[in-house]
Amino acid sequence: MRVFKFGGASVKDAEGVKNVVKVLKEVGHDNTMLVISAMGKTTNAMEEVVDAYFDNKSEIVHKIDAVVEYHNSILKELFPNPQHQVYKEVKTLIEEVKGFLAWNKSPKYNFVYDQVVGYGELLSTAIVSAYLEEVGIRNQWLDVRGFIKTDSSYRDTTVLWEKTQEHISKIDRSVLNITQGFLGSDENNFTTTLGREGSDYTAAILAYCLNADSVTIWKDVPGVLNADPRYFKETQLLNNISYREAIELAF
Ligand code: ASP
Ligand code: MG
Repeated sequence: MRVFKFGGASVKDAEGVKNVVKVLKEVGHDNTMLVISAMGKTTNAMEEVVDAYFDNKSEIVHKIDAVVEYHNSILKELFPNPQHQVYKEVKTLIEEVKGFLAWNKSPKYNFVYDQVVGYGELLSTAIVSAYLEEVGIRNQWLDVRGFIKTDSSYRDTTVLWEKTQEHISKIDRSVLNITQGFLGSDENNFTTTLGREGSDYTAAILAYCLNADSVTIWKDVPGVLNADPRYFKETQLLNNISYREAIELAF
């Protein structure tokens, strides 16, 4: 069993999603669990939706539209047929967020935040899963909230390991599974989040509970470079580094 995690930067556009397919075709996808983050900067965009809900309700529609437009532009490139089922799925998810914001009575920021922001991951996994099917890679979309159980300290939850282990051990490993990073759910099944940048942690939780052989965090760079390519021009790929150097760089 292997766990592969693709972050937001790796699925920030249609090309990124196509690259996920390329990776899976190249390295194979038997006994694999995919963990995907929200596309690009969607989590930030969803945070803006939450802020609008608390500070300036008239901005909500505009903020949600921005999220919709961004995902639609990716969808159009991946699925030229506007009748494709995925368009309905995405629409349903957006209706759900809007419905939550319309009916919610809780004044608690952190609670509302977790119910809303998690749609970034639900959208990205719905799209990637549909695209994998489209190119002939059979896969099973899993709602991670049914597996990772947490306490109710919204935005900064603690994993309830026993329950989580129990649920995860029921996952069918014979298929390629695809699920969301960052999310969990509490005892009342409300969505919880594991903290910003939490998807790597999700991959680790799943790997631990599945007793996986490896976790791979796929990045949008060709390998480990000698500097951050966002800040330096002529960065070089390091073909070998020692564990000590790797630890030092990570630190
Ligand atoms: N989408 C979440 C975030 O942007 C989790 C993650 O990407 O790791 O923080
Ligand atoms: Mg990250």
